[in-house]
Amino acid sequence: MDISVVIPLLNEAESLPELFSWIEKVMQENNFTYEIIAVDDGSTDNSWEIIQNLSKENQNIKGIRFQRNYGKSAALQTAFQATNGNVVITMDADLQDSPDEIPELYSMIVREKYHLVSGWKQERFDNKLTKNLPSKLFNFVTQQVSGIKNLHDFNCGLKAYNSEVVKNIEIYGEMHRYIPVIAKWAGYSKITEKPVKHQKRKYGVTKFGIERFINGFLDLLSITFVGRFGKRPMHLFGVLGTLSFFFGFVILIYMAYSKLILGEAGMANRPLFYLGILTVIVGTQLFLAGFLGELIARNSNERNLYNIKETLGLS
Ligand code: UDP
Ligand code: MG
Repeated sequence: MDISVVIPLLNEAESLPELFSWIEKVMQENNFTYEIIAVDDGSTDNSWEIIQNLSKENQNIKGIRFQRNYGKSAALQTAFQATNGNVVITMDADLQDSPDEIPELYSMIVREKYHLVSGWKQERFDNKLTKNLPSKLFNFVTQQVSGIKNLHDFNCGLKAYNSEVVKNIEIYGEMHRYIPVIAKWAGYSKITEKPVKHQKRKYGVTKFGIERFINGFLDLLSITFVGRFGKRPMHLFGVLGTLSFFFGFVILIYMAYSKLILGEAGMANRPLFYLGILTVIVGTQLFLAGFLGELIARNSNERNLYNIKETLGLS
């Protein structure tokens, strides 16, 4: 199968018929073999009924329905496990992303061998103050932290993947915004972007408000930390802890020397004394955190979970 189109949706009943028939049209024109996997993320409108009806008319339409709303990341992760296509394309259900981009995205994955191609909404049609401006900031921070400097728009719902990528990453929480970062950490670094057309939301309202940025930033820290030190926490905490400890230790030795050898008094009134004690304690704490982290990492059943590209002579 050429393409799996993955569509997470929450209360998008009005958009679905138009979206699905548009995708069908594009697929037929280009002779793609395909499937559409719609994930109903706990809709309270009749989205699921519409998916059921559409799938009766078209065998390529498949659906997953969550018992409740788990969020976009959970919807994507679940659909990724189920895909059969060589190329996986995700798009939002609200008709803001255009299915006409599919052939070009497909060819960038298949011909140019990109692992991931992210859409770039060069011109956006969302609220300037609550959406566009915060997005600029978000994208800048993510670029700096992740080192992926060639993406302008990390959170675009329209993305294409080599299916290998989606089978080997894990997203949860609010991490759908950072899939390129997660993919990079999993070893899929051939990442690029394609400017895409963005439409105004035709029906319904946005499901994400301003609060998304606080959780989002913490997720970015987690991803970076887990990617870099998740399997070797001691390398971060151990180094910081040891440095801090020795810094304090040297100060305290100097204090003891002043008091005992030079006979100075009033050590407890000197700021340096407290700094010495503080850094020794903080250093010990950091070291312990690293050590505990290391013990947990050792016992984790994912400790030897490496993303193996290929094996030879093994079944
Ligand atoms: N969505 C979802 N679960 C959620 C929130 C959103 O599946 O908990 C879907 C939503 O139906 C849409 C896509 O994720 O298909 C993007 O959401 P939205 O258009 O509201 O975000 P925006 O474009 O405003 O950033
Ligand atoms: Mg939208």
